[in-house]
Amino acid sequence: MKLAIASLVLGSAAAFSPSAFSGTALSAASNGATMDMRYKVAVIGGGPSGACAAEIFAQEKGIDTVLIERKMDNAKPCGGAIPLCMIGEFDIPESTVDRKVRKMKLISPTNVEVDIGDTLQPNEYIGMCRREILDKYLRDRAISYGAEAIQGLVTKIDVPEDHKETESQYTLHYQEFTAGSSAGVPKTMDVDLIVGADGANSRVAKAMDAGEYNFAIAFQERIKITEEQMSFYEEMAEMYVGDDVSPDFYGWVFPKYDHVGVGTGTVVNRPAIKQYQKAIRDRAGDKIAGGKIIKVEAHPIPEHYRPRRVQGRLALVGDAAGYVTKCSGEGIYFAAKSGRMAAEAIVKLMEGGKRLPTQTEIERTYIADYDKLYGPTYTVLDILQKVFYSNNGAREAFVELCNSKYVQQVTFDSYLYKRVQGNNPLDDLKLLGETIGCLIKGYAIATPDQEFSNPVESAKRL
Ligand SMILES: Cc1cc2nc3c(=O)[nH]c(=O)nc-3n(C[C@H](O)[C@H](O)[C@H](O)COP(=O)(O)OP(=O)(O)OC[C@H]3O[C@@H](n4cnc5c(N)ncnc54)[C@H](O)[C@@H]3O)c2cc1C
Repeated sequence: MKLAIASLVLGSAAAFSPSAFSGTALSAASNGATMDMRYKVAVIGGGPSGACAAEIFAQEKGIDTVLIERKMDNAKPCGGAIPLCMIGEFDIPESTVDRKVRKMKLISPTNVEVDIGDTLQPNEYIGMCRREILDKYLRDRAISYGAEAIQGLVTKIDVPEDHKETESQYTLHYQEFTAGSSAGVPKTMDVDLIVGADGANSRVAKAMDAGEYNFAIAFQERIKITEEQMSFYEEMAEMYVGDDVSPDFYGWVFPKYDHVGVGTGTVVNRPAIKQYQKAIRDRAGDKIAGGKIIKVEAHPIPEHYRPRRVQGRLALVGDAAGYVTKCSGEGIYFAAKSGRMAAEAIVKLMEGGKRLPTQTEIERTYIADYDKLYGPTYTVLDILQKVFYSNNGAREAFVELCNSKYVQQVTFDSYLYKRVQGNNPLDDLKLLGETIGCLIKGYAIATPDQEFSNPVESAKRL
Protein backbone atom coordinates (compact mmCIF):
# COMPACT_ATOMS: atom_id res chain seq x y z
CA MET A 1 0.00 0.00 0.00
CA LYS A 2 1.44 3.27 -1.02
CA LEU A 3 0.43 6.87 -0.43
CA ALA A 4 0.89 9.31 -3.27
CA ILE A 5 3.58 10.97 -1.17
CA ALA A 6 5.19 12.72 -4.08
CA SER A 7 2.06 14.73 -4.75
CA LEU A 8 2.01 15.90 -1.15
CA VAL A 9 5.70 16.79 -1.20
CA LEU A 10 5.21 18.69 -4.43
CA GLY A 11 2.15 20.42 -3.04
CA SER A 12 0.20 19.28 -6.07
CA ALA A 13 -3.56 19.67 -6.22
CA ALA A 14 -3.93 15.91 -6.43
CA ALA A 15 -3.98 14.07 -3.16
CA PHE A 16 -4.18 10.36 -2.61
CA SER A 17 -4.58 7.32 -4.75
CA PRO A 18 -7.55 5.08 -3.93
CA SER A 19 -5.21 2.15 -4.37
CA ALA A 20 -3.55 3.30 -1.18
CA PHE A 21 -6.65 2.58 0.81
CA SER A 22 -8.97 -0.24 1.49
CA GLY A 23 -12.21 -0.68 3.36
CA THR A 24 -14.08 2.41 4.43
CA ALA A 25 -12.06 5.01 2.60
CA LEU A 26 -12.38 3.32 -0.74
CA SER A 27 -16.02 2.49 -0.29
CA ALA A 28 -16.70 6.10 0.69
CA ALA A 29 -15.22 7.09 -2.64
CA SER A 30 -17.25 4.43 -4.41
CA ASN A 31 -20.40 5.74 -2.77
CA GLY A 32 -19.71 9.11 -4.29
CA ALA A 33 -18.76 10.75 -0.99
CA THR A 34 -16.65 13.81 -1.66
CA MET A 35 -13.28 12.64 -0.38
CA ASP A 36 -10.16 14.00 -2.00
CA MET A 37 -8.84 10.60 -3.04
CA ARG A 38 -8.67 9.97 -6.69
CA TYR A 39 -6.79 7.91 -9.17
CA LYS A 40 -4.15 9.91 -10.96
CA VAL A 41 -3.64 9.73 -14.71
CA ALA A 42 -0.48 11.18 -16.24
CA VAL A 43 -0.49 12.17 -19.90
CA ILE A 44 3.13 12.52 -21.07
CA GLY A 45 3.46 14.91 -24.01
CA GLY A 46 1.38 17.93 -24.90
CA GLY A 47 1.12 17.59 -28.68
CA PRO A 48 -2.25 16.90 -30.34
CA SER A 49 -2.44 13.33 -28.99
CA GLY A 50 -1.62 14.32 -25.41
CA ALA A 51 -3.75 17.45 -25.34
CA CYS A 52 -6.77 15.64 -26.76
CA ALA A 53 -6.36 12.79 -24.28
CA ALA A 54 -5.87 15.15 -21.33
CA GLU A 55 -8.99 17.18 -22.10
CA ILE A 56 -11.14 14.04 -21.88
CA PHE A 57 -9.59 12.88 -18.58
CA ALA A 58 -9.81 16.41 -17.16
CA GLN A 59 -13.56 16.51 -17.72
CA GLU A 60 -14.01 13.45 -15.50
CA LYS A 61 -14.01 14.97 -12.05
CA GLY A 62 -13.40 11.61 -10.37
CA ILE A 63 -9.91 11.45 -11.88
CA ASP A 64 -6.86 13.66 -11.32
CA THR A 65 -5.20 14.49 -14.62
CA VAL A 66 -1.67 15.74 -15.01
CA LEU A 67 -0.29 16.80 -18.40
CA ILE A 68 3.51 16.82 -18.59
CA GLU A 69 5.05 18.61 -21.56
CA ARG A 70 8.76 19.27 -21.84
CA LYS A 71 8.31 22.58 -23.67
CA MET A 72 5.04 24.46 -23.50
CA ASP A 73 5.90 26.62 -26.51
CA ASN A 74 7.16 23.67 -28.55
CA ALA A 75 7.07 24.16 -32.32
CA LYS A 76 6.86 20.55 -33.50
CA PRO A 77 8.66 20.14 -36.84
CA CYS A 78 5.70 19.57 -39.14
CA GLY A 79 4.07 20.50 -42.45
CA GLY A 80 0.97 21.34 -40.42
CA ALA A 81 -1.61 20.14 -42.96
CA ILE A 82 -4.87 19.07 -41.31
CA PRO A 83 -8.07 17.69 -42.83
CA LEU A 84 -11.24 19.77 -42.80
CA CYS A 85 -13.09 17.32 -40.56
CA MET A 86 -10.61 17.97 -37.76
CA ILE A 87 -11.79 21.57 -37.42
CA GLY A 88 -15.37 20.53 -36.67
CA GLU A 89 -14.72 17.29 -34.87
CA PHE A 90 -12.22 18.85 -32.46
CA ASP A 91 -13.96 22.20 -32.33
CA ILE A 92 -10.85 24.05 -33.44
CA PRO A 93 -11.29 27.75 -34.25
CA GLU A 94 -10.39 28.73 -37.79
CA SER A 95 -8.03 31.32 -36.30
CA THR A 96 -5.56 28.47 -35.71
CA VAL A 97 -5.47 27.86 -39.47
CA ASP A 98 -2.92 30.03 -41.32
CA ARG A 99 -4.05 29.17 -44.83
CA LYS A 100 -6.93 27.37 -46.45
CA VAL A 101 -5.54 25.34 -49.31
CA ARG A 102 -8.03 24.74 -52.13
CA LYS A 103 -5.61 24.00 -54.94
CA MET A 104 -2.72 21.60 -55.20
CA LYS A 105 -0.08 21.04 -57.81
CA LEU A 106 1.28 17.55 -58.11
CA ILE A 107 4.57 17.59 -59.98
CA SER A 108 6.13 14.50 -61.59
CA PRO A 109 9.83 13.58 -61.90
CA THR A 110 9.84 15.06 -65.44
CA ASN A 111 8.03 18.17 -64.11
CA VAL A 112 4.62 17.33 -65.55
CA GLU A 113 2.18 19.34 -63.43
CA VAL A 114 -1.32 18.26 -62.56
CA ASP A 115 -3.67 20.73 -60.87
CA ILE A 116 -6.01 19.25 -58.38
CA GLY A 117 -8.78 20.87 -56.39
CA ASP A 118 -11.54 21.43 -58.96
CA THR A 119 -13.71 18.87 -57.24
CA LEU A 120 -13.66 20.80 -53.95
CA GLN A 121 -16.78 22.67 -52.84
CA PRO A 122 -16.31 26.39 -51.99
CA ASN A 123 -16.40 25.64 -48.25
CA GLU A 124 -13.89 22.79 -48.45
CA TYR A 125 -10.17 23.15 -47.80
CA ILE A 126 -7.04 21.61 -46.31
CA GLY A 127 -6.01 23.56 -43.22
CA MET A 128 -2.40 24.71 -42.96
CA CYS A 129 -1.33 25.34 -39.36
CA ARG A 130 1.74 26.25 -37.43
CA ARG A 131 2.06 23.62 -34.74
CA GLU A 132 3.07 26.07 -32.03
CA ILE A 133 -0.38 27.69 -32.48
CA LEU A 134 -2.48 24.53 -32.87
CA ASP A 135 -0.80 22.58 -30.04
CA LYS A 136 -1.04 25.52 -27.65
CA TYR A 137 -4.74 25.92 -28.35
CA LEU A 138 -5.46 22.23 -27.69
CA ARG A 139 -3.23 22.15 -24.60
CA ASP A 140 -4.76 25.30 -23.11
CA ARG A 141 -8.20 23.84 -23.59
CA ALA A 142 -7.22 20.69 -21.65
CA ILE A 143 -5.83 22.88 -18.88
CA SER A 144 -9.00 24.98 -18.81
CA TYR A 145 -10.97 21.77 -18.22
CA GLY A 146 -8.84 21.07 -15.17
CA ALA A 147 -5.72 19.19 -16.29
CA GLU A 148 -2.75 20.10 -14.10
CA ALA A 149 0.00 21.24 -16.45
CA ILE A 150 3.65 20.67 -15.68
CA GLN A 151 6.47 21.86 -17.87
CA GLY A 152 8.80 18.94 -17.42
CA LEU A 153 10.88 16.37 -19.24
CA VAL A 154 10.08 12.82 -18.19
CA THR A 155 13.41 11.02 -18.00
CA LYS A 156 12.48 7.66 -16.47
CA ILE A 157 9.48 5.64 -15.44
CA ASP A 158 9.63 2.95 -12.76
CA VAL A 159 7.30 0.17 -13.81
CA PRO A 160 6.64 -2.31 -10.99
CA GLU A 161 6.98 -5.98 -11.91
CA ASP A 162 3.43 -6.69 -10.78
CA HIS A 163 1.75 -3.76 -12.55
CA LYS A 164 -0.41 -6.01 -14.71
CA GLU A 165 -1.93 -7.91 -11.82
CA THR A 166 -2.13 -5.29 -9.08
CA GLU A 167 -2.89 -1.61 -8.70
CA SER A 168 0.71 -0.75 -7.82
CA GLN A 169 1.65 2.71 -8.98
CA TYR A 170 4.14 3.93 -11.59
CA THR A 171 6.80 6.43 -10.54
CA LEU A 172 7.63 9.20 -12.98
CA HIS A 173 11.04 10.85 -12.78
CA TYR A 174 11.14 14.22 -14.47
CA GLN A 175 12.97 17.52 -14.68
CA GLU A 176 10.59 20.36 -13.99
CA PHE A 177 11.29 23.65 -15.72
CA THR A 178 9.92 26.83 -14.28
CA ALA A 179 9.60 30.14 -16.11
CA GLY A 180 12.83 32.04 -16.42
CA SER A 181 15.07 29.11 -15.45
CA SER A 182 16.73 26.82 -17.95
CA ALA A 183 17.87 24.36 -15.28
CA GLY A 184 15.42 21.61 -14.52
CA VAL A 185 14.57 20.58 -10.97
CA PRO A 186 14.49 16.78 -10.54
CA LYS A 187 11.17 15.53 -9.22
CA THR A 188 9.15 12.34 -8.93
CA MET A 189 5.45 11.60 -8.99
CA ASP A 190 3.44 8.44 -8.41
CA VAL A 191 0.56 7.84 -10.79
CA ASP A 192 -1.97 5.09 -11.45
CA LEU A 193 -2.17 5.17 -15.25
CA ILE A 194 0.03 6.65 -17.97
CA VAL A 195 -0.83 7.73 -21.49
CA GLY A 196 2.31 7.95 -23.63
CA ALA A 197 1.74 10.85 -26.01
CA ASP A 198 5.40 11.75 -26.19
CA GLY A 199 5.97 11.34 -29.89
CA ALA A 200 8.37 9.32 -31.98
CA ASN A 201 11.14 9.18 -29.35
CA SER A 202 8.71 8.08 -26.66
CA ARG A 203 10.10 7.41 -23.18
CA VAL A 204 6.85 5.74 -22.24
CA ALA A 205 7.26 3.29 -25.13
CA LYS A 206 10.74 2.51 -23.85
CA ALA A 207 9.56 2.03 -20.27
CA MET A 208 6.84 -0.40 -21.33
CA ASP A 209 9.10 -2.26 -23.78
CA ALA A 210 6.75 -1.46 -26.63
CA GLY A 211 9.23 -2.46 -29.32
CA GLU A 212 10.59 -0.52 -32.26
CA TYR A 213 9.20 0.79 -35.52
CA ASN A 214 10.78 1.85 -38.79
CA PHE A 215 10.84 5.58 -39.14
CA ALA A 216 11.37 8.21 -41.78
CA ILE A 217 13.44 11.27 -41.14
CA ALA A 218 11.56 14.35 -42.29
CA PHE A 219 13.22 17.70 -42.85
CA GLN A 220 11.62 21.09 -43.32
CA GLU A 221 12.77 24.65 -43.80
CA ARG A 222 10.47 27.56 -43.11
CA ILE A 223 11.28 30.02 -45.87
CA LYS A 224 10.13 33.62 -45.88
CA ILE A 225 9.48 34.69 -49.45
CA THR A 226 8.31 37.98 -50.96
CA GLU A 227 4.64 38.98 -50.89
CA GLU A 228 4.53 38.52 -54.65
CA GLN A 229 5.90 34.98 -54.36
CA MET A 230 3.56 34.35 -51.44
CA SER A 231 0.54 35.34 -53.52
CA PHE A 232 1.14 32.24 -55.68
CA TYR A 233 0.83 30.11 -52.56
CA GLU A 234 -2.22 32.04 -51.27
CA GLU A 235 -4.44 28.93 -51.49
CA MET A 236 -1.92 26.60 -53.11
CA ALA A 237 0.21 23.70 -51.89
CA GLU A 238 2.68 21.74 -53.99
CA MET A 239 3.78 18.11 -53.87
CA TYR A 240 6.83 16.99 -55.83
CA VAL A 241 7.68 13.36 -56.55
CA GLY A 242 10.91 12.01 -58.01
CA ASP A 243 13.98 10.14 -56.82
CA ASP A 244 15.78 13.49 -56.65
CA VAL A 245 13.50 14.77 -53.83
CA SER A 246 12.92 11.40 -52.12
CA PRO A 247 13.40 7.74 -53.00
CA ASP A 248 10.24 6.74 -51.11
CA PHE A 249 8.20 9.83 -50.16
CA TYR A 250 7.40 13.27 -51.58
CA GLY A 251 8.69 16.79 -51.23
CA TRP A 252 6.29 19.59 -50.35
CA VAL A 253 5.80 23.33 -50.35
CA PHE A 254 3.06 24.18 -47.85
CA PRO A 255 1.96 27.79 -47.30
CA LYS A 256 1.84 29.37 -43.83
CA TYR A 257 0.73 32.84 -42.89
CA ASP A 258 3.86 34.73 -44.03
CA HIS A 259 6.19 31.95 -45.19
CA VAL A 260 6.23 28.52 -46.80
CA GLY A 261 7.27 25.21 -45.28
CA VAL A 262 9.51 23.38 -47.76
CA GLY A 263 10.42 19.82 -46.88
CA THR A 264 10.88 16.18 -47.69
CA GLY A 265 11.37 12.82 -45.98
CA THR A 266 12.79 9.35 -46.47
CA VAL A 267 13.03 6.02 -44.71
CA VAL A 268 15.33 4.14 -47.00
CA ASN A 269 18.14 6.69 -47.35
CA ARG A 270 18.08 8.93 -44.30
CA PRO A 271 21.76 9.99 -44.48
CA ALA A 272 20.95 11.75 -47.80
CA ILE A 273 18.12 13.87 -46.38
CA LYS A 274 19.99 17.16 -46.92
CA GLN A 275 20.65 16.26 -50.56
CA TYR A 276 16.90 15.63 -51.02
CA GLN A 277 16.11 18.91 -49.27
CA LYS A 278 18.37 20.78 -51.68
CA ALA A 279 16.60 19.07 -54.58
CA ILE A 280 13.15 20.15 -53.42
CA ARG A 281 14.39 23.73 -53.08
CA ASP A 282 15.80 23.50 -56.60
CA ARG A 283 12.59 22.03 -58.00
CA ALA A 284 10.51 24.84 -56.48
CA GLY A 285 12.99 27.19 -58.19
CA ASP A 286 11.93 30.79 -58.80
CA LYS A 287 8.79 30.38 -56.74
CA ILE A 288 10.91 30.47 -53.58
CA ALA A 289 14.19 31.89 -54.94
CA GLY A 290 15.83 34.50 -52.71
CA GLY A 291 13.73 33.41 -49.75
CA LYS A 292 15.15 33.65 -46.25
CA ILE A 293 15.34 30.44 -44.25
CA ILE A 294 13.86 31.37 -40.89
CA LYS A 295 13.77 27.93 -39.30
CA VAL A 296 15.25 24.52 -40.01
CA GLU A 297 13.50 21.54 -38.45
CA ALA A 298 13.77 17.76 -38.61
CA HIS A 299 12.13 14.89 -36.78
CA PRO A 300 11.43 11.15 -37.15
CA ILE A 301 8.05 10.02 -38.52
CA PRO A 302 6.94 6.49 -37.59
CA GLU A 303 6.14 4.13 -40.45
CA HIS A 304 3.86 1.68 -38.68
CA TYR A 305 2.41 0.72 -35.31
CA ARG A 306 4.63 -0.38 -32.45
CA PRO A 307 4.51 -4.11 -31.70
CA ARG A 308 2.84 -3.32 -28.33
CA ARG A 309 0.66 -0.30 -27.63
CA VAL A 310 -0.61 -1.23 -24.15
CA GLN A 311 1.17 -2.85 -21.21
CA GLY A 312 -0.65 -2.94 -17.89
CA ARG A 313 -1.95 0.61 -17.43
CA LEU A 314 0.51 2.21 -19.83
CA ALA A 315 -1.04 3.06 -23.20
CA LEU A 316 0.49 4.74 -26.26
CA VAL A 317 -1.26 7.21 -28.57
CA GLY A 318 -0.28 9.31 -31.61
CA ASP A 319 3.27 9.06 -32.94
CA ALA A 320 4.36 7.19 -29.81
CA ALA A 321 2.06 4.38 -30.97
CA GLY A 322 3.05 4.79 -34.63
CA TYR A 323 -0.17 6.24 -36.08
CA VAL A 324 1.12 8.03 -39.18
CA THR A 325 -0.22 6.99 -42.58
CA LYS A 326 2.13 6.02 -45.36
CA CYS A 327 1.90 7.85 -48.67
CA SER A 328 0.61 11.10 -47.15
CA GLY A 329 2.69 11.12 -43.95
CA GLU A 330 -0.35 12.36 -42.11
CA GLY A 331 -0.31 12.09 -38.33
CA ILE A 332 -1.91 15.13 -36.67
CA TYR A 333 -5.52 14.01 -37.04
CA PHE A 334 -4.68 10.42 -36.06
CA ALA A 335 -2.77 11.68 -33.02
CA ALA A 336 -5.71 13.79 -31.83
CA LYS A 337 -8.19 11.05 -32.58
CA SER A 338 -6.21 8.26 -30.88
CA GLY A 339 -5.65 10.46 -27.81
CA ARG A 340 -9.35 11.14 -27.59
CA MET A 341 -10.37 7.52 -28.25
CA ALA A 342 -7.92 6.10 -25.69
CA ALA A 343 -9.01 8.58 -23.02
CA GLU A 344 -12.72 8.07 -23.68
CA ALA A 345 -12.33 4.29 -23.44
CA ILE A 346 -10.25 4.48 -20.26
CA VAL A 347 -12.57 7.01 -18.58
CA LYS A 348 -15.51 4.74 -19.28
CA LEU A 349 -13.66 1.74 -17.87
CA MET A 350 -12.77 3.73 -14.75
CA GLU A 351 -16.46 4.28 -13.99
CA GLY A 352 -16.14 7.80 -12.68
CA GLY A 353 -12.81 7.11 -10.99
CA LYS A 354 -13.98 4.12 -8.95
CA ARG A 355 -11.66 1.53 -10.47
CA LEU A 356 -8.62 1.05 -12.68
CA PRO A 357 -8.84 -0.69 -16.06
CA THR A 358 -6.89 -3.82 -16.92
CA GLN A 359 -4.63 -4.22 -19.94
CA THR A 360 -7.13 -6.59 -21.54
CA GLU A 361 -9.94 -4.08 -21.10
CA ILE A 362 -7.90 -1.30 -22.71
CA GLU A 363 -6.97 -3.57 -25.60
CA ARG A 364 -10.56 -4.64 -26.14
CA THR A 365 -11.82 -1.07 -26.25
CA TYR A 366 -9.34 1.61 -27.34
CA ILE A 367 -7.03 -0.63 -29.39
CA ALA A 368 -9.77 -2.76 -30.99
CA ASP A 369 -11.91 0.27 -31.86
CA TYR A 370 -8.99 2.25 -33.29
CA ASP A 371 -7.81 -0.65 -35.44
CA LYS A 372 -11.29 -1.34 -36.71
CA LEU A 373 -11.79 2.29 -37.66
CA TYR A 374 -8.41 3.01 -39.25
CA GLY A 375 -6.70 -0.34 -39.94
CA PRO A 376 -7.93 -0.40 -43.56
CA THR A 377 -6.75 3.19 -44.14
CA TYR A 378 -3.19 2.33 -43.05
CA THR A 379 -3.20 -0.80 -45.22
CA VAL A 380 -4.46 0.95 -48.37
CA LEU A 381 -2.01 3.85 -48.04
CA ASP A 382 0.84 1.43 -47.40
CA ILE A 383 0.04 -0.38 -50.65
CA LEU A 384 -0.31 2.90 -52.58
CA GLN A 385 3.07 4.09 -51.33
CA LYS A 386 4.72 0.82 -52.37
CA VAL A 387 3.11 0.94 -55.84
CA PHE A 388 3.50 4.63 -56.69
CA TYR A 389 6.54 5.97 -54.81
CA SER A 390 9.04 3.24 -55.57
CA ASN A 391 10.47 4.42 -58.90
CA ASN A 392 10.18 7.27 -61.37
CA GLY A 393 8.00 5.30 -63.81
CA ALA A 394 5.41 4.66 -61.13
CA ARG A 395 5.63 8.29 -59.96
CA GLU A 396 4.92 9.56 -63.49
CA ALA A 397 1.92 7.20 -63.60
CA PHE A 398 0.72 8.44 -60.21
CA VAL A 399 0.76 12.07 -61.32
CA GLU A 400 -1.04 11.28 -64.55
CA LEU A 401 -3.69 9.28 -62.72
CA CYS A 402 -4.38 12.26 -60.50
CA ASN A 403 -5.66 14.07 -63.60
CA SER A 404 -8.79 11.97 -63.22
CA LYS A 405 -11.61 13.90 -61.51
CA TYR A 406 -12.79 10.63 -60.03
CA VAL A 407 -9.39 10.01 -58.38
CA GLN A 408 -9.35 13.58 -57.12
CA GLN A 409 -12.84 13.28 -55.69
CA VAL A 410 -12.16 10.00 -53.89
CA THR A 411 -8.77 11.16 -52.62
CA PHE A 412 -10.04 14.47 -51.26
CA ASP A 413 -13.14 12.91 -49.72
CA SER A 414 -11.09 10.26 -47.94
CA TYR A 415 -8.52 12.79 -46.75
CA LEU A 416 -10.85 15.62 -45.76
CA TYR A 417 -13.51 13.54 -44.07
CA LYS A 418 -11.63 10.40 -43.03
CA ARG A 419 -14.28 8.10 -44.32
CA VAL A 420 -14.00 5.32 -46.83
CA GLN A 421 -15.97 6.38 -49.85
CA GLY A 422 -18.80 4.38 -51.34
CA ASN A 423 -17.03 4.09 -54.66
CA ASN A 424 -18.63 3.71 -58.05
CA PRO A 425 -17.84 0.16 -59.36
CA LEU A 426 -17.92 1.28 -63.01
CA ASP A 427 -15.54 4.14 -62.33
CA ASP A 428 -13.35 1.78 -60.31
CA LEU A 429 -13.09 -0.59 -63.25
CA LYS A 430 -12.25 2.29 -65.57
CA LEU A 431 -9.67 3.44 -63.07
CA LEU A 432 -7.98 0.04 -63.01
CA GLY A 433 -7.60 0.21 -66.79
CA GLU A 434 -6.27 3.77 -66.56
CA THR A 435 -3.80 2.77 -63.83
CA ILE A 436 -2.33 0.03 -65.98
CA GLY A 437 -2.18 2.40 -68.98
CA CYS A 438 -0.50 5.13 -66.91
CA LEU A 439 2.02 2.69 -65.45
CA ILE A 440 3.02 1.48 -68.93
CA LYS A 441 3.33 5.06 -70.18
CA GLY A 442 5.11 6.19 -67.00
CA TYR A 443 7.75 3.49 -67.27
CA ALA A 444 8.28 4.40 -70.95
CA ILE A 445 9.00 8.09 -70.32
CA ALA A 446 10.69 7.96 -66.92
CA THR A 447 14.37 8.38 -66.24
CA PRO A 448 15.62 5.48 -64.10
CA ASP A 449 16.11 6.16 -60.39
CA GLN A 450 19.63 6.92 -59.26
CA GLU A 451 21.10 4.00 -57.39
CA PHE A 452 22.23 4.50 -53.85
CA SER A 453 23.88 2.19 -51.41
CA ASN A 454 22.82 2.38 -47.83
CA PRO A 455 23.41 -1.07 -46.36
CA VAL A 456 23.56 0.02 -42.73
CA GLU A 457 20.24 1.87 -42.75
CA SER A 458 18.57 -0.76 -44.91
CA ALA A 459 19.63 -3.52 -42.55
CA LYS A 460 18.01 -1.62 -39.71
CA ARG A 461 14.56 -1.89 -41.29
CA LEU A 462 12.21 -4.10 -39.34
C1 LIG B 1 8.74 17.41 -40.98
C2 LIG B 1 7.40 16.79 -40.67
C3 LIG B 1 6.28 17.16 -41.40
C4 LIG B 1 5.03 16.64 -41.08
N1 LIG B 1 3.93 17.10 -41.75
C5 LIG B 1 2.69 16.69 -41.39
C6 LIG B 1 1.54 17.26 -41.98
O1 LIG B 1 1.61 18.15 -42.81
N2 LIG B 1 0.32 16.80 -41.59
C7 LIG B 1 0.19 15.81 -40.64
O2 LIG B 1 -0.95 15.42 -40.33
N3 LIG B 1 1.27 15.27 -40.05
C8 LIG B 1 2.52 15.69 -40.36
N4 LIG B 1 3.61 15.18 -39.73
C9 LIG B 1 3.40 14.18 -38.65
C10 LIG B 1 2.93 14.88 -37.36
O3 LIG B 1 3.84 15.90 -37.04
C11 LIG B 1 2.84 13.90 -36.19
O4 LIG B 1 2.16 12.74 -36.61
C12 LIG B 1 2.12 14.50 -35.00
O5 LIG B 1 2.82 15.61 -34.50
C13 LIG B 1 1.94 13.49 -33.87
O6 LIG B 1 1.41 14.12 -32.73
P1 LIG B 1 1.71 13.57 -31.27
O7 LIG B 1 0.94 14.40 -30.32
O8 LIG B 1 1.50 12.11 -31.24
O9 LIG B 1 3.28 13.77 -31.07
P2 LIG B 1 4.12 15.13 -31.12
O10 LIG B 1 3.45 16.14 -31.93
O11 LIG B 1 5.51 14.72 -31.48
O12 LIG B 1 4.07 15.64 -29.62
C14 LIG B 1 4.81 15.00 -28.60
C15 LIG B 1 4.99 16.01 -27.49
O13 LIG B 1 5.59 15.34 -26.39
C16 LIG B 1 6.61 16.16 -25.86
N5 LIG B 1 7.58 15.25 -25.26
C17 LIG B 1 8.37 14.36 -25.91
N6 LIG B 1 9.10 13.66 -25.03
C18 LIG B 1 8.74 14.10 -23.80
C19 LIG B 1 9.16 13.75 -22.48
N7 LIG B 1 10.08 12.80 -22.26
N8 LIG B 1 8.61 14.42 -21.43
C20 LIG B 1 7.67 15.39 -21.65
N9 LIG B 1 7.26 15.76 -22.87
C21 LIG B 1 7.78 15.11 -23.93
C22 LIG B 1 7.15 16.95 -27.04
O14 LIG B 1 7.74 18.17 -26.63
C23 LIG B 1 5.89 17.16 -27.88
O15 LIG B 1 5.24 18.37 -27.59
C24 LIG B 1 4.89 15.68 -40.03
C25 LIG B 1 6.02 15.28 -39.32
C26 LIG B 1 7.26 15.83 -39.62
C27 LIG B 1 8.46 15.41 -38.80
